[in-house]
Amino acid sequence: MDLYEYQARDLFEKHGVPVLDGVVASTPDQAAQAAQQLGGLVVVKAQVKTGGRGKAGGVKLARNPDEARQAAEAILGMDIKGHTVHRVLVAAGADIANEYYFSVLLDRSQRRYLAMCSVEGGVEIEQLAAERPEALARVAVDPLTGIDDATARKIVTEAGFEADVADRVIPVIQKLWDTYKGEDATLVEVNPLVQTADGEIIALDGKVSLDSNASFRHPEHADLVDKAEEDPLEARASELGLNYVKLSGEVGVIGNGAGLVMSTLDVVAYAGEAYGVGPANFLDIGGGASAEVMSNGLSVILSDPEVRSVLVNVFGGITACDEVARGIVGALELLGDQASKPIVVRLDGNSVEEGLSILRDAEHPLVTIIATMDEAAAEAAKLAGKGE
Ligand code: GDP
Ligand code: MN
Repeated sequence: MDLYEYQARDLFEKHGVPVLDGVVASTPDQAAQAAQQLGGLVVVKAQVKTGGRGKAGGVKLARNPDEARQAAEAILGMDIKGHTVHRVLVAAGADIANEYYFSVLLDRSQRRYLAMCSVEGGVEIEQLAAERPEALARVAVDPLTGIDDATARKIVTEAGFEADVADRVIPVIQKLWDTYKGEDATLVEVNPLVQTADGEIIALDGKVSLDSNASFRHPEHADLVDKAEEDPLEARASELGLNYVKLSGEVGVIGNGAGLVMSTLDVVAYAGEAYGVGPANFLDIGGGASAEVMSNGLSVILSDPEVRSVLVNVFGGITACDEVARGIVGALELLGDQASKPIVVRLDGNSVEEGLSILRDAEHPLVTIIATMDEAAAEAAKLAGKGE
């Protein structure tokens, strides 16, 4: 889950990273009030989950509440790379002497964390990395030691900080590491990390991504979810405890086991080429899924307006096919007239005969039983492609 800058700022503050005071505003009046409260020079910044706000005109300095109001008027409602600005952060203005760059992220290929640091911050880091890679230090971080004193020293030395600045930057990047580790983040990026005119090091911008697989360790992270931004189907699936990911196609997919569902997506994508359709979602009902889970999953998928057909692909292991079949029949009964899309079912494995006979006995007009995965995917794709 990606956070807004103001949320990243709050997490930084919690872990002792130096940040400036800030107030979130969603109207120009609130922005003016915030500027009044903060006093002096402020900066009004668009809160959108994308970079390059400065370039797009989404970051403006304001010398007084009136200017803050005007800045907010200009920024609120602005579109930045497809993101509409609904809120601004009004933050105390910094007297910037130097802009640096620091980030730490998960380096999956190396099975390490990777810290990146540069004395040339503020600019687009992708551009710096491409044009002058030597200006961007990249230091592997051992997950067992983290950014300890030696690693921190290595980072600032390779980045090329002068000795006195380096000594001030080290504790800040260690606190940024505390944020990364303590919050189970997959990315913490500060651009710019600044040195102010009086020598202080401050995180002026923040980008944080949290690992949602670790959310059970952080019940407080639930408050960081932006409900308005969440896909409504994913939100509903998540409330029901389903492993569901919305995709862009027309064939709803349900299976048991992440591996089987992934390969089902591939097969549907392949079969769909001929009909101009593809998978509409990932949904893994897991091992040992009950009729209720099947029924919940089916109802989420059928409520997706993009879905034109559904493929249920279950290989019964711990999950018994008769449970799955009861789930399908039960869901269709519950949904009644709302269930108006054809469902192709392929069952195999544990209790397959019982499962198939439950489906046959139900004689539901929307359900087609097909024995193999390839043929079932082809049929589902064909049904979704009808009327094209
Ligand atoms: P981004 O463009 O989305 O990365 O937004 P940032 O928050 O990084 O702001 C972009 C640039 O605006 C920074 O690199 C700074 O040069 C400038 N800026 C941001 N805050 C302040 C501030 O408090 N004072 C001054 N003088 N400049 C600022
Ligand atoms: Mn920035």
